[in-house]
Amino acid sequence: MKKIFLILFVKIPLIILLLATTIGSSFYLFSPIYNFEEPSPFAGSKIYNPYGAIDSTQWKRANFHAHHRMWGGVTNGGCSEEELLKAYNGLNYDFIGISNYQHMTDYNKGTEFYLPVYEHGWGIAKFHQLVFGAEKVTWKEYPFFMGLSEKQNILNHVHEGADLIVFNHPRFTRGLKKEDMRYLTGYNMIEAVSGMASSADLWDEALSSGHASFIVANDDSHNINKLYQLARNVTFVNVNSTKYTDLVDALKRGSTYGLKVPNFGDGDWNIKKAQNDSLPRPLEIAFTNDTLRIQLDQKADSIRVIGQGGNAKLVAKDTAYIEYVMQPEDTYIRTEARFANGVDMYFNPLFRYTGDQPLATQVLAHYSFVKTLLYSFVWLLAILLQLFLLYKVIAFPINSKRR
Ligand SMILES: [Zn+2]
Repeated sequence: MKKIFLILFVKIPLIILLLATTIGSSFYLFSPIYNFEEPSPFAGSKIYNPYGAIDSTQWKRANFHAHHRMWGGVTNGGCSEEELLKAYNGLNYDFIGISNYQHMTDYNKGTEFYLPVYEHGWGIAKFHQLVFGAEKVTWKEYPFFMGLSEKQNILNHVHEGADLIVFNHPRFTRGLKKEDMRYLTGYNMIEAVSGMASSADLWDEALSSGHASFIVANDDSHNINKLYQLARNVTFVNVNSTKYTDLVDALKRGSTYGLKVPNFGDGDWNIKKAQNDSLPRPLEIAFTNDTLRIQLDQKADSIRVIGQGGNAKLVAKDTAYIEYVMQPEDTYIRTEARFANGVDMYFNPLFRYTGDQPLATQVLAHYSFVKTLLYSFVWLLAILLQLFLLYKVIAFPINSKRR
């Protein structure tokens, strides 16, 4: 009896564990390691205005990040795709992203309204991206820890062949330091507010480092039958159609704003619906002669203009209107409004640039042959050690007569 117990509950689990860690370690072999250059904040005499071409009557409601039951229930998802669509359609969403882990939906496939998006990332670090418009799902991942080089490798990899990349819930990513935002590049948008985490300060860190990135506010819902997960983080996109290609253009331009929304109705659908129909919205966002003017349709408790380092440049109380003259020392400015009913509103940054590529990506990661070699050597040693332990465990005699 004792022999069977030892084999079933000690030897076999140890073998499985060692096999898993050995295979996992092999994902790190030959992975490129970089030296990271210091970033340059936004600079230049020109100013990029993401709202330069908007039509104030064309704001469309969107959520790009929602899960349903998938992969036999292994991943976190508690509703069906039909239930998910019904819930968002019930609140008049124009864009409903079905973004399961490592899987693209077939919903609307073959039409110009197909929204091809999935959430990439299956390692324990929870370094996740929404990948828009990829030909197929990529499984490349680092299952255990992820340093800066590993994260940059993933961003480079998922970006290839995709239309857009969202850096999901940075605050929720294990081991992600605020300063990492200074160096990572290769994404278009940041999920600055989501059902998982508020990451606006990390967005400011990226903006203060000169990384052009726009807001996405997503529910990241996992079971839409739980009403508190629905319509809590909303993105409004300025676009006059619901075609995927038009959506991508608008997202790339940054013609969006995000809302953090309270749990209106506390489970009561009708209250939630009514409150979501009357969310605050901008009547005008204009930038002329270095002056930003924002007119909202209802009074906010406070409106703040935020600049370099995440510092407040202007705070206006009890108003629906602000004006801010962009100062020579302002690298970027973005605006937030807080309303008495608990809604927070986040506008995209206006930022400085030179040349004719305001949205160009800084390349800060430079391949280091020596570091890559050393790194691979360490992982090779780790793999050999694990294989040796595996051999020892398999060969270890279990003899019940020993007691
Ligand atoms: Zn995620």
